[in-house]
Amino acid sequence: MFRYNKKYDCQNENSGNFYSCQWIQHGLVFFRYKIATCCYCGHSGGGHTLVKDDYSGQPINWEHIFKQKKTFNRLYKKGLINDNCVDCPFLTQKSNEEWESGEDYISNLYISHWVDCNSKCTYCFATQHPEEFQFKTKPYSVLPIIKEMLQKNILRRGGSIHFGGGEPALLPEFEDIIRLLLDYKFYDLRVHTSGIKYMPILERGIREGRLKVVVSVDAGSRETFKKIKQVDAYDIVRENIRKYAAAQVDRTHAITPKLYIIGTYCASSKYIVIPDVNDNLEEVENWIKADVEAGVHTTVIDLEENWFKAHEHDLPQSIFDFIYEIKKLSDKYGTYLEMYERLANMLKDNPERAPWYVPEKV
Ligand code: SF4
Ligand code: SF4
Repeated sequence: MFRYNKKYDCQNENSGNFYSCQWIQHGLVFFRYKIATCCYCGHSGGGHTLVKDDYSGQPINWEHIFKQKKTFNRLYKKGLINDNCVDCPFLTQKSNEEWESGEDYISNLYISHWVDCNSKCTYCFATQHPEEFQFKTKPYSVLPIIKEMLQKNILRRGGSIHFGGGEPALLPEFEDIIRLLLDYKFYDLRVHTSGIKYMPILERGIREGRLKVVVSVDAGSRETFKKIKQVDAYDIVRENIRKYAAAQVDRTHAITPKLYIIGTYCASSKYIVIPDVNDNLEEVENWIKADVEAGVHTTVIDLEENWFKAHEHDLPQSIFDFIYEIKKLSDKYGTYLEMYERLANMLKDNPERAPWYVPEKV
């Protein structure tokens, strides 16, 4: 529902500005049963702003999609904001000209429509709600939709194409999708993986500086890994991280005249901090050390969602302090520290509790 929200009403300023985001303008997300505008959900509005419910791969009425986007613009100019977007950090104020290019296209794509995985992370929605996933439906095919978007020049370079969902290595069309996107010279491709099954196609994207792979590890030891992932695959995951890291090229890739990608930041592993399970500095240091030894130069962290939701109105100072300690370890080992949305929002919203934090520009 769209409701008037004074905070987002720029009409009195006579600046011609209005609030919007890249996803409202040019974004699309494929989820299991629906299409959404974005994949963000770490703010109070809840995100995942709906485009079409009950979706399972039917032909898309593009005219309708772009009409919807224009409706968002019309309403947002009046300060009428979709409930799901309220308090989203990506909602920013810009001029008419900056937001409305006059062309209808998609440049931000998030593909997250399947749940099969070879890991069983204790915090995963699929692990926590097995009843919902016991009769898994075969994921619909996204490849023909992407091909159609490319043929019609609807999908264009300039944004990001990320994979979430279950494990990409188990998605039959994954390799074909990545190959197609790389052939069309797309960049800012990001693939989240359990790292249990190696995917050779990712090497090409890493080598070209067009693709980042993020392996979910959450541990600095085999024991903790097994406790969280409920599979005994620590050694194989570490070996696969090493192989992805070895595909990195130690140079700056000039992707466009304005965009340069550091080749050695294309392979990374991720650590979701789960209080009382892996919030142990020795564990974190061992994880970073193993990454650095493997040739990984990025430290990616986030906070476990269920814990965060249960504590978001009463966050203990200890969690802010722990994240600061991780930052110091990242500095010590010379890695680039990347915080995912939930954690970044928490620090941004509580500057007095994390004075060391400098938010990245959206
Ligand atoms: S929730 Fe945020 S990112 Fe998603 S469409 Fe709304 S403003 Fe954009
Ligand atoms: S790797 Fe991702 S999809 Fe697989 S169980 Fe863990 S959180 Fe779920």
